[in-house]
Amino acid sequence: MFHEKDIKILLIEDEQDIRESYVDMLKFLGLKAEAAENGIEGLKKLEQNNFEIVMTDLNMPEMDGMETMRRIKKKNKEIEVIVITGFATIENAISAMKQGAFDYITKPVSFEHVKIVLNKCIQKIQAQRENVELRDSNTQLRELNELKDKFITITNHELRTPMAVLRGYIDLLDMEITELGNDEMDEYIGIINNTLTEMMSMIDSMHDLSSLKNFVTSNEKHLFDINDLLHDVVKENKIFFHKRRIRLSQELNSKPIYVRADEKMIRKAVRELLQNALKYTKEDGEVILSSKDVDSRQQVFITVSDNGIGIPADKLELIFEPFYEVQDVLHHSTSKTDFMGGGIGMGLSLVKEIVEANEGEVVVESVPGKGSAFIIILPKAKEND
Ligand code: ADP
Repeated sequence: MFHEKDIKILLIEDEQDIRESYVDMLKFLGLKAEAAENGIEGLKKLEQNNFEIVMTDLNMPEMDGMETMRRIKKKNKEIEVIVITGFATIENAISAMKQGAFDYITKPVSFEHVKIVLNKCIQKIQAQRENVELRDSNTQLRELNELKDKFITITNHELRTPMAVLRGYIDLLDMEITELGNDEMDEYIGIINNTLTEMMSMIDSMHDLSSLKNFVTSNEKHLFDINDLLHDVVKENKIFFHKRRIRLSQELNSKPIYVRADEKMIRKAVRELLQNALKYTKEDGEVILSSKDVDSRQQVFITVSDNGIGIPADKLELIFEPFYEVQDVLHHSTSKTDFMGGGIGMGLSLVKEIVEANEGEVVVESVPGKGSAFIIILPKAKEND
């Protein structure tokens, strides 16, 4: 039985008994059907109503089934036509198929055969409809995405200018107050300055992500030792870890590991991972930054592991989506270096974009309550690079 409420069938057959028995059969199958006694009447019904399928006898007086089909297809080639013919005239059915009929049914008509042919035909119509829907929602998604990029670009641009003005005046105030020797004011200015720096770095990461897609990293690639880079990143971040009593150690490969990549960007990616490890680890925790030369695979593994809060298994894929955050965003405190501190869910999507633009991949392993390890895998530079 069919349950296709929105599929209507028009049956064209000149012999009244047969016509009525077809209509009964179609209704029995749960389909909506109307009948016409010849091609002309059939075409009129098609003018007045929408039908998805036409079943027509080929051998009819006045206008035969073939001509009827031609005219139907000329008006609307989306309508599927199934022709009905006797065994003796099967060549006509084949020629109808060549001209666009969906299939043919031979007389005497078997209930089972009609069911099979209609089933195939309805499936085709539904697949086409789903295709159209998918295409529409795809276009909508693309438009939304463009709108989002545009929004980020405009917001970014509009925020940058007033921020730069603020920064300029605060620097001026800072100089005046330092000269006056007013400690309290000095402290307030310091707080304003730090807040401004954090806001500006947020704007920068939004900007990076929206422009990264068009970013051609190959121009910026050069040869460097990954250990040097990791050593620098640890050095520049040590103070933040120290402040929160989190041990930060490095376990670097004993020999240099050379990669050919965009050094500035890779540095940014490692920094993001390290800052996340800091944010999502409680006081007295431990974070390790390590590098490993996996010679057999011609790859380098850069791992940032922590014994922090961890990530639930069902969220592991989502965290790389822009703006996605596992925790409730309202629980953010202000500073980026605090436990569960400020962020906008852009860090990991940036890391992924950067690493993939450098022919690498990012992998994460995590156990809630125990900790996480983020691994950046990059191809090693070739001998003659
Ligand atoms: P955010 O600015 O929120 O840190 P990210 O894109 O860097 O954004 O990370 C997305 C989300 O992934 C975070 O909000 C956090 O829920 C989770 N996450 C990232 N790194 C870690 C980590 N080391 N430990 C636990 N959760 C993490």
